[in-house]
Amino acid sequence: MPTRIDIDGVSVSPDHFIGGERVSSPETFETRCPFDWDRKLADIARGNAETAAHAAAAATAAFPAWAALTAAKRGAYLHRLADLIESNVEKLATVECLDMGMLLESLRLRVILRGAANFRNYADLATQHEERVWSSRGTLNRVIRMPAGPALIITPWNAPFMLSTWKCAPALAAGNTVILKPADWSPLSASVLADLIAEAGFPTGVFNIVQGLGAELGNALTSDPRIKRISFTGSVPTARIIGKAAAENIVPFTAELGGKSPLLVFADADIDAAAKKAAGQFDDSGQVCMAGTRIIVEESVKDTFLAKFHAYTDAHVMGDSRDPATTMSALIHPVHAERVLGFIDRARAAGDTIVRGGKRFKEGANWVEPTLIIPKDNQSEVVQNEVFGPVLTFQTFKDEAEGVALANSTAYGLSGIVYTGSESRANRVGRAVRGGTVWVNTFLVRDLTAPFGGIGISGIGREGGDYALDFHSDLKTLQILDGSVA
Ligand code: NAD
Repeated sequence: MPTRIDIDGVSVSPDHFIGGERVSSPETFETRCPFDWDRKLADIARGNAETAAHAAAAATAAFPAWAALTAAKRGAYLHRLADLIESNVEKLATVECLDMGMLLESLRLRVILRGAANFRNYADLATQHEERVWSSRGTLNRVIRMPAGPALIITPWNAPFMLSTWKCAPALAAGNTVILKPADWSPLSASVLADLIAEAGFPTGVFNIVQGLGAELGNALTSDPRIKRISFTGSVPTARIIGKAAAENIVPFTAELGGKSPLLVFADADIDAAAKKAAGQFDDSGQVCMAGTRIIVEESVKDTFLAKFHAYTDAHVMGDSRDPATTMSALIHPVHAERVLGFIDRARAAGDTIVRGGKRFKEGANWVEPTLIIPKDNQSEVVQNEVFGPVLTFQTFKDEAEGVALANSTAYGLSGIVYTGSESRANRVGRAVRGGTVWVNTFLVRDLTAPFGGIGISGIGREGGDYALDFHSDLKTLQILDGSVA
């Protein structure tokens, strides 16, 4: 009989959710609280090749009936799930906060509700779709979206709930069944989601969730020929492995990967707003793929910017993420904290200047102080590689051309942030900065119908809006000879 665990009053299953049922595994892995590492939260079912095959069989069996439903009928399930997410914000926020470490207030007020919005958005978008129809060369052409089959969704440990909903919603709305594999460092909110899926009454096997370690469970899933789409968010090295598996089975694959995005500040900008936004990026301890981690400021306003940046950064409070006074969450795991400190140590050794921070907040804790580094030159490791921690670099430029050149000088291209008071510069520099999304005088505001994805090693493909529905469909062109049918 599967057991359930109490997480601060929320009952959570440690098991997989396959074919509408909870399924355990003989082995487990543990998950702990990032800001209270001595606290073990749960032993989670550690899926293996057998788990992967079970989930693929369930998703395959459920596919024909789910694909045959109208978009409106599928949408009704998604709306029901969104309703349940909205009425369970407190539970989801509590579990996500303890498991991933994200600030409770932000989960309550924004993040969990965004998960509900993801399901609503795709429930509606799929019904609003109009087939493209036109005549040419004596035929009537009609483009039809055909559901593709079971989709595998693989998510990272940062923002696990939001990213899972963002990626699963379009797959389900397009008529695909889903296997979600969350990351093993923050698996719990997905398990709460499984309970809500059951409560929403989804047909069994339509939405499955399996838990496990990356390579062990992941390889078995990505190599299964029954999987017809792979949508991945995570790191570049893992994308390379999954990409090979997708190539082996000729399966379409999207990858939303890391970033090393610029935060470009021009002298004509609101410098206070730019400095506040730059320092605000420490709130999730920098564990945000889109973060503008390379601060690049016009030389003439460097001192003003830095004074304000330091003042805003000084105001950060590290502590229990449930405490409203806390403004900066812990890093997810001691292994990750060591990795972040490794970047700082190597930067120091290579001659970069650590302007502030650079060490643990306190012995044994998972926080690294908010850190600012002036690199020796643009080739420094901290400028060129994603740290995924509270580490920002600081560089200056003399004119727009130099600023844009610095902004575009890494292999990444996920996003960019530009601060300027000039409309013409906003449009010119916004176009010139290499990134799938570029924000001007703002950050993280994202319309769900807009495309999202990376350039260069930041990713392959686009998700969001119709782009994700197209990805999850087999597009068919139906051509009928004019005058041949009555
Ligand atoms: P990761 O690549 O280590 O893991 C991501 C997921 O892949 C996890 O679920 C993991 O278990 C799984 N995985 C690992 N090996 C696998 C394999 N061989 N086969 C199948 N699945 C496997 O990434 P992470 O450390 O969890 O996440 C951090 C990274 O994610 C950062 O680089 C960050 O920038 C990126 N990220 C990108 C976005 C985006 O939208 N572009 C959003 C969030 C995070």
